[in-house]
Amino acid sequence: MHATKFRAAIAAAALLAFATPAVHAKPVDAPITETELAGHIKILAGDAFEGRAPGTEGEDRTIAYIVGEWAKAGLEAVPGSATPWLQPVPFVETQGLGSTARFSVRGRDFALPDDGIVLTGRDPSAALTGLPAVFVGYGIDGAGKVNADVKGKLAIMLFDNAPFGDKLPRYRERRQMLADAGASAVLVIATDAVPWEQLRETAGSKVMRLADAKPGAPVSGFLSPAAADALLKQAGEDSNALHEAAKSPGYKGMALPVSADLATQSAIRPFASNNVIAKLPGAKPDGKAVLFLGHWDHLGICESEGTADRICNGAVDNASGIAVLIEVAKRLGKGARPDRDIYFLATTAEEKGLLGAHYFADHPVVPLSDITVALNIDTIAISPRGTPVATIGRGKPAYDAVVREAATKLGRKLDEDGEADAFIQRQDGWALGAKGVTSLMVGGSFSDMKLLEAFLGSHYHTATDNFSDTIPLGGAAEDADLHVALGRAFADTKAWPGTAK
Ligand SMILES: [Zn+2]
Repeated sequence: MHATKFRAAIAAAALLAFATPAVHAKPVDAPITETELAGHIKILAGDAFEGRAPGTEGEDRTIAYIVGEWAKAGLEAVPGSATPWLQPVPFVETQGLGSTARFSVRGRDFALPDDGIVLTGRDPSAALTGLPAVFVGYGIDGAGKVNADVKGKLAIMLFDNAPFGDKLPRYRERRQMLADAGASAVLVIATDAVPWEQLRETAGSKVMRLADAKPGAPVSGFLSPAAADALLKQAGEDSNALHEAAKSPGYKGMALPVSADLATQSAIRPFASNNVIAKLPGAKPDGKAVLFLGHWDHLGICESEGTADRICNGAVDNASGIAVLIEVAKRLGKGARPDRDIYFLATTAEEKGLLGAHYFADHPVVPLSDITVALNIDTIAISPRGTPVATIGRGKPAYDAVVREAATKLGRKLDEDGEADAFIQRQDGWALGAKGVTSLMVGGSFSDMKLLEAFLGSHYHTATDNFSDTIPLGGAAEDADLHVALGRAFADTKAWPGTAK
């Protein structure tokens, strides 16, 4: 380049910069800090919030905190909402008051090993006698259809995911399908992966379902692996052989020479919990929207009386995700206003089976077809800084490219081995994905499986998921910055078309 022209060019550039600084001063979002996240987690996972169980005082405090922070961030209630900031979600809670189970094998009474069964009734009382039992394996065939005649029977089903497909329903849905097919009772054989004592305690306490959900079978429950083995053995079957046979996608179930008398008494209580919903109106809305979501609920008071620490505080699961949603809202709300509308959703009852997210998906405040992407944030305080970025829900090239570019710009490495997808059905995004919304869960937590499994095998869903200074928040802070960038990218009408494969 010629020297004179060069100098003139510099002068012109300088003049331009001076005259219109906004053109050159790229809006920069201040990095989200570990201290900011820790501040929110400490509060949300504090004992005053009682473990954030739906329908408790802990819920009221949680909602007040989230609404307060989002309002400070500049978010608004969704216009026209009869209940600003909130989407009431009607539930029915069933509490078992007592139950009895009697089995006979070929006409002879058979006593299950001690405490190997837990039952829940759908109605205030149920008394079923002489139910023929059928072992149904996973309860479905390779096409995802109910695999056996269960009408009027006791269906005994495996808990674990069916091994002959990766998009097949999990146990809750399979149990519901058996109920829909007319099963009078469904017993799920628990997995060795969950300690029986723990499962018995949680399953035996209170069960929540959406008030508008299909009713389950009159009686449902769990059998411990040991109790199931004993019952099958008494019926002349080898448990291992049955488990093996069930792995075939064509398995049709096996009638057992077992008859069951099941009785339950339950207290049924309708109540409402709430999804929290807010909107950041876009500067140039084009009808498409970005949805951020994360669940606010956790397990509440989870240990029996007399235990020193009775509260499952859910610091990592998912106070950490809500902390990130608060700070992401603040960056997007205070910084340069994105083009598209951005919705923020804090769901209830994720821990009860993604119930708040399912309710939102059935009653969306913005048409689901307008949501260009849903970004779910759950259990995010797992990894240190520098952890590669994995994405649950990868596979749509245009979306993957946005994530790759945003992550790369922030100096992050990508983890694209697909391992993270093992968790796809275990997070709120699944409820939206099942209805056609592109749902991603992006970050470091689902990248380093060693770290994730260490958490899942220790503090996860126990009273020790507490806030402490040793929770790794570096990765969460980086993931939070990444979500600010993703929010900006997907809300940019020039850079992102709003629909893509
Ligand atoms: Zn959880």
